[in-house]
Amino acid sequence: MGGCLVVVVCTLVFVAVVMERSLSSHMLELVRSSMQREILTVREVVRDRWRPGEGIPAADRLADELGRIVGSRVTLITPQGKVLGDSRMPQGEVPGMVNHADRPEIVQAMAQGEGSAVRYSSTLGFDLMYTALRLDGPNGQKLLVRLALPLSQVQQALSRTRGLVLWAMFLGVLLSIGVAYLVARGISRPVQQLTRTAASIAAGDLSRRFTRYPRHEIGELGRAFDQMADNLQSTIDDITQSRDRLEAILRGMVEGVLVIDNDGYVLLANQALMKMLELKAVPPGRLPSEIMRNADLLEALDEARAGREYVWREIKTLGATPRHLEAHVVRISGEASGPGMVCVLHDITERKRLEKTRRDLVANVSHELRTPLTAVRGAAETLLDGALDSPQYARHFAELILRQSHRLERLVQDLMELARLESGESPPRPRPINAAELTDSVMEAVTDLAQAQNTELERRLPREPLVFAADARQVEQAVLNLLDNAIKYTGQAGRVTLAMEARDQEVIISVSDTGPGIAAEYLPRLFERFFRVDTNRSREMGGTGLGLAIVKHIAQVHHGRVEVDSAPGRGSTFRLILPLVNLGGP
Ligand code: ADP
Repeated sequence: MGGCLVVVVCTLVFVAVVMERSLSSHMLELVRSSMQREILTVREVVRDRWRPGEGIPAADRLADELGRIVGSRVTLITPQGKVLGDSRMPQGEVPGMVNHADRPEIVQAMAQGEGSAVRYSSTLGFDLMYTALRLDGPNGQKLLVRLALPLSQVQQALSRTRGLVLWAMFLGVLLSIGVAYLVARGISRPVQQLTRTAASIAAGDLSRRFTRYPRHEIGELGRAFDQMADNLQSTIDDITQSRDRLEAILRGMVEGVLVIDNDGYVLLANQALMKMLELKAVPPGRLPSEIMRNADLLEALDEARAGREYVWREIKTLGATPRHLEAHVVRISGEASGPGMVCVLHDITERKRLEKTRRDLVANVSHELRTPLTAVRGAAETLLDGALDSPQYARHFAELILRQSHRLERLVQDLMELARLESGESPPRPRPINAAELTDSVMEAVTDLAQAQNTELERRLPREPLVFAADARQVEQAVLNLLDNAIKYTGQAGRVTLAMEARDQEVIISVSDTGPGIAAEYLPRLFERFFRVDTNRSREMGGTGLGLAIVKHIAQVHHGRVEVDSAPGRGSTFRLILPLVNLGGP
């Protein structure tokens, strides 16, 4: 704006100066030409009236008379410069006037016939214009007629004009300032606003817009700017949406995911991976070897990095919870970032455990079957080898075969019961069970065994009748298994108590004995199939090692649990706890 103002002022000053110059020269020219016309008239009058030889008085009178007519100062001068008459001088002073021969207009008029000059008159105190004409008399006498006109009027007019011009200039400048201010405001304001909006957007506030569009180019710019911001916003929204989606997918994945960039640095890792490898944090931009210690996994990553398209590896972790993992590493090619790698980890710990359980089960079952089968075969062979001939031996071996086949039958029955329970093929069919009836039934079933062992059987039931819903056959089977064990392992002259009670929405069926009890170290494994504290004793008793496993499974299919309290020498208490589904009476 300042620059514009300087240009405007300079232009105005220049115009004013040029104008004044041309005006003043034009006015002088006007004055000069009017004086020239006048002096021609004056010369003709002087030519008529002036007689050479007449003295100063006549000449001065003539000058005075002419001066009055034309209104200018009229001076008559001899070629030598002597003043003969002057309209502004009293006659008496004319002879004393200085010689005018050296005046420029006189010199010029002498030489060329006419002359003019503008000069400052110190006598009058302002500029005067002089015009002189040479008058050539018939006898060769010459006289110079000079007119002098004060230029004070011209100068006054000029200074008035100058004043006007100065005012006009001043107004022009004021006007320029106003217009410049308005124009600048119309441009600079929107520009400032646009700058502020751009700065806010750059600082991250994408909701800011320019919104007001002036009619000039800034408006166009603002509109384009807002459109750019809209596009930016929608692009960012799209990117954020796909990022959120990806994050949600990664978060929700059971598989561990590790993404590695072209340079081998970690780009991202999901929660599942961190949990599997027991990592607290996986900061992006680090090398995998900086954040994890699993040599097998690092090796798999290195192999993929070395150029293999796909690497598969089974790895074990050694953390607080050791895991079996299956690692799949795939090379990916991204256009922008170049090829990287994605590593997906599957937790196969459970599968491994199941595989092991199955292997163990097959081994255990084979082992359990082999013993009675070997005994049967041995007995049959002995019979065939001649024992058949002795009725006493024959009976002995036949009884042995019968006992072992009973054992095989029990084993197969228990295995099938377990398989049924585990497969979920025959879910429990709950129906009302009356506690008193249940205890009657199971105690009756073990009476013979108890009598054989001289065991005292006791039962405790709540005063109120207790009825609950469960699969009667399964619950009876479970209680029988517990009672059977209690009687078997307590030995001679012990006491076994069967108690049932309802507490906290649970039915607690407990079987306590005064038997040998079980060492604490065995308690955690007691409900595993084929686990026995003393295998030989169990076999002697005709146990299959599956009784407690069946109890545990029956509890589980009823959404209940089993507990055991035992210590060597202090007897054992087994509890089958089922949720109480109260049916409100018998
Ligand atoms: P088994 O057919 O051998 O009895 P179980 O699964 O019923 O198999 O029991 C597993 C093991 O638990 C038994 O071999 C025995 O060592 C121990 N056990 C079970 N009940 C008792 C008990 N009441 N007193 C002492 N030991 C018991």
